[in-house]
Amino acid sequence: MQQEEEAELMLEQGGIPISQLCNSSVNIDLLQCPICFNILWKPIACGQDRCFSSFCQYCIESWLNQKNAQSTFEEEEETFANESNCPKCKRVFIKTEIPLVKVLLSQIELKCIHSNCTQVIPYADYENHIVNCKERKKQCRGCQQYILQNKLEEHEAQCSQIPVECQKCHKRMPKCDLESKHDKYNCIENLFKVQDQQLENLYTQYLICDDMVNYYEEKIARMMKGDLIALTEYNFFTIFTANYQFTTDNLYIARLVRNSYNYNKQKNDFLHFYVDYYFTTGLEGYEWKCRVIRLRGNLLIGVCSSQLSNSVDFIVNRLGEVKKKEENDNRYHIIRKVNFTFGEGDVIRFQILPFMQCLRITNETRHLTFCFNRNELQEMGDQYFSFFSLEYQGDALQFL
Ligand SMILES: [Zn+2]
Ligand SMILES: [Zn+2]
Ligand SMILES: [Zn+2]
Ligand SMILES: [Zn+2]
Ligand SMILES: [Zn+2]
Repeated sequence: MQQEEEAELMLEQGGIPISQLCNSSVNIDLLQCPICFNILWKPIACGQDRCFSSFCQYCIESWLNQKNAQSTFEEEEETFANESNCPKCKRVFIKTEIPLVKVLLSQIELKCIHSNCTQVIPYADYENHIVNCKERKKQCRGCQQYILQNKLEEHEAQCSQIPVECQKCHKRMPKCDLESKHDKYNCIENLFKVQDQQLENLYTQYLICDDMVNYYEEKIARMMKGDLIALTEYNFFTIFTANYQFTTDNLYIARLVRNSYNYNKQKNDFLHFYVDYYFTTGLEGYEWKCRVIRLRGNLLIGVCSSQLSNSVDFIVNRLGEVKKKEENDNRYHIIRKVNFTFGEGDVIRFQILPFMQCLRITNETRHLTFCFNRNELQEMGDQYFSFFSLEYQGDALQFL
């Protein structure tokens, strides 16, 4: 490859090597440059009488320039070296042209300098051919390989090393870098975009957090004030009992109508029902009330982990006995005795206090208070139900 470049350079900077000559019918002596010893290229002759030596244009011009440059240092030596002298006759160089040389040159034919080209070219067409020769190779601006010049455009179009400019940040780089990693990882514009996106996401998160903070602040303020959500509408739910009555014309009355034998429980029927609302151990506080309308038998007031028979239950009865039922047990076992009783006509208030994490039950009529405490509520998991169990025919509760 370099050979090719050298050959082209020779054409710009001197003559054509004798080895390129094809027909030898012409006397080559007249056509050789006395400076580069190649075949004259764009010849210029010395016009001095009896000299008429021809040189390549480039050779003679460089020689003369060199002489001029030297003379500025060598200050008027007695020789003629300070003048622009002919290298042959040493006299002042007078530029001329010799028609005979031109005629002779026009008769020679030359081999192309490009390695695979077999064409023989008349001297006059030589430069034109060299530049346009199919076998001429040029260096790819990307991979630096030498490619046939008529294939170069196609090659550069797909050469992965070709330098390209990023349209966003205007940085130049090999095409393969732009495609593989620049856009994704290095382009400043994209990095900014990613940062912008992240900022936007953070801001969104911040807004969400801000909303949540407000929400919880309000809640905490409510809790601190002891503000509870009052239940005023009730839905009741039961699975065990056949003979019961829920009256719901604004008077939410739950009544066991008639005793019968409950085969499931292997005992006399009872009205076991839930306030159909599950309470979570979250931040909400609730309260509701009921009045004991009739109570000849016992009443169990309780909390349970589920509405199925294998739930964990805690209850308090009219004797102030706090009892617990394990998950896979049918019986209640006394765990403590408290100063809490109720009877017919009493109003009982229920309060779920999230701050204290307890269910406080107050007999407003008798001024007695009792709590299912945090540990007991936690044994039932994340949520629990409030339930009541009436055992005696005709006994009833009215929810207020
Ligand atoms: Zn020359
Ligand atoms: Zn001369
Ligand atoms: Zn050629
Ligand atoms: Zn290339
Ligand atoms: Zn970029």
